[in-house]
Amino acid sequence: MTAAPQPPQSSQPSLSPESTAFPAVPGSADAVLAGLDPEQREVATALRGPVCVLAGAGTGKTRAITHRIAYGVRAGVLQPASVLAVTFTNRAAGEMRGRLRQLGAPGVQARTFHSAALRQLQYFWPRAVGGELPRLLERKVQLVAEAAARGRVRLDRNELRDVTGELEWAKVTQTAPEDYAAAIAKTGRDAPRDPAEITGIYRGYEQLKRDRGVIDFEDVLLLTVGVLQDRPDIAEQVQRQYQHFVVDEYQDVSPLQQRLLELWLGGRDSLCVVGDASQTIYSFTGATPDHLLDFRVRHPEATVVKLVRDYRSTPQVVHLANGVLAQATGRAAAARLELVAQREAGPEPAFTEYADEPAEAEGTARHIRRLIDAGVAPSSIAVLYRINAQSEVYEQALADRSVPYQLRGAERFFERPEVREAGIKLRGAAVGGKNDAMLDEAGRDGDLAAQVRAVLSWSAEPPAGSGTVRDRWESLAALVRLAEDFGRARPGATLRDLVDELGERAAAQHAPTVEGVTLASLHAAKGLEWDAVFLVGLTEGMLPITYAKTPEQVEEERRLLYVGITRARVHLSLSWALARSPGGRASRG
Ligand code: ATP
Ligand code: MG
Repeated sequence: MTAAPQPPQSSQPSLSPESTAFPAVPGSADAVLAGLDPEQREVATALRGPVCVLAGAGTGKTRAITHRIAYGVRAGVLQPASVLAVTFTNRAAGEMRGRLRQLGAPGVQARTFHSAALRQLQYFWPRAVGGELPRLLERKVQLVAEAAARGRVRLDRNELRDVTGELEWAKVTQTAPEDYAAAIAKTGRDAPRDPAEITGIYRGYEQLKRDRGVIDFEDVLLLTVGVLQDRPDIAEQVQRQYQHFVVDEYQDVSPLQQRLLELWLGGRDSLCVVGDASQTIYSFTGATPDHLLDFRVRHPEATVVKLVRDYRSTPQVVHLANGVLAQATGRAAAARLELVAQREAGPEPAFTEYADEPAEAEGTARHIRRLIDAGVAPSSIAVLYRINAQSEVYEQALADRSVPYQLRGAERFFERPEVREAGIKLRGAAVGGKNDAMLDEAGRDGDLAAQVRAVLSWSAEPPAGSGTVRDRWESLAALVRLAEDFGRARPGATLRDLVDELGERAAAQHAPTVEGVTLASLHAAKGLEWDAVFLVGLTEGMLPITYAKTPEQVEEERRLLYVGITRARVHLSLSWALARSPGGRASRG
């Protein structure tokens, strides 16, 4: 950390993202360094020994490590095939491979922990265990339910979801069934059921998997760790192949991923990690920024570089981001660095309050239409929300204005399995297939939403946890809300009318799009950037989300907001609605 913040190379708040350009391949290793500032260059040229980059959003961490790999390869110090770069999502990995190619360093492996582990496991399984790698289980819930039933534990749907999430946490924190009760006592974690019961279900679930010859998502990492631990010959072979490791978004590494990384390293120290503790947003899965913040403790000889120049966002956006973090508390907050904006001034962030959610979606879509008409590429615009179920109104509002869009990290609303399944059930009920007293009664009252709830056996009880089961519940909740709104807008409408409406919406949204406005959850937006970002649905209960209860959970929600704000290059809009639906009670402040 030496030079004072410098003016950036290009300070135009241009509306064309760097990623769409096709720069010429740098002519030499040194030319690779030309696009970096002095601290970034320090990262790129520190090719030996452990390196840790601690820096805020948009300071060029990902850029610095990509250039570091390219520089090392071009300078002949790193063999491309000996480098393993680990990033957070498959998409980020793909982007990194693309950038490496542009920098003249193809052939470097860039993967997620999961995909790197799966590849190794598939390769070594015949030798380590024999036969083919067992089939990967797509959904745990069914097996968890069976395990509970065998143990004579009755779980309602919400409990089933929460217990499943609990087993996932136990697995990524490498907590065996017999250690579960002690582990949650130690971490002060709220168990969704009696820990002894969860222990029993956990054990039963693991047994069922063995009986059926399947493995789950976490097993891929656990088994890879197991094989590398038990078989020094295999560990050696992997270590011969990979000698240099780079990890992006290291603040969100889980204990299990960290263990795998250590086994890959096998005591060697060619490791470069980059991260921002203020962007820790996966704590609920067992991830912790401690590995990042304690890097120096574990590697006293490490080169530690801090970056503070924000090249991504205008001073207006940076100011807001700094402001959000100024109130943060906890370990991540103590480690934070104030961002220094490098770009030219841009518009002030806009804060907009709407009467209700449809109005918010329409207002947002109108604004987006204007930006596109003014020449902003749809692909450089994003709408970000807290949970995927919020996407539907935006999908609809954009479709209504013929704005192409794409969903990130989630399927389109009407393509989600639970929504399709619900559609089939509703269609069945609409043509009179379902003979249910509750449904009849709801139908007589003309209460469309009540009929939908009955057909879907959907319970209004808001679930406590998070995770995929929660996402499915939210999708159905969105469908029920849609039915409520439809019933209010069209008094006397029947289930049949609703099914037709759903069909039309699905058809409008299924129009194939190549490039378009990105719709994504804040979690899926990590590491990405757009010229214009719309943070929507910023109401109490959504952000911070209802189930954030402890101060730590509320801090994580603050970090999510920080991640959202720092995705914007130029235009940033934050909005919320006072009521959920038109004419609804304005209960939000
Ligand atoms: P995040 O924390 O969100 O992952 P990051 O620190 O990884 O952000 P990058 O995505 O690498 O940041 O960079 C942010 C933007 O700034 C990118 O568009 C990148 O190309 C640009 N940038 C970074 N460093 C420089 C530089 N030295 N000169 C010009 N542009 C830069
Ligand atoms: Mg990054």
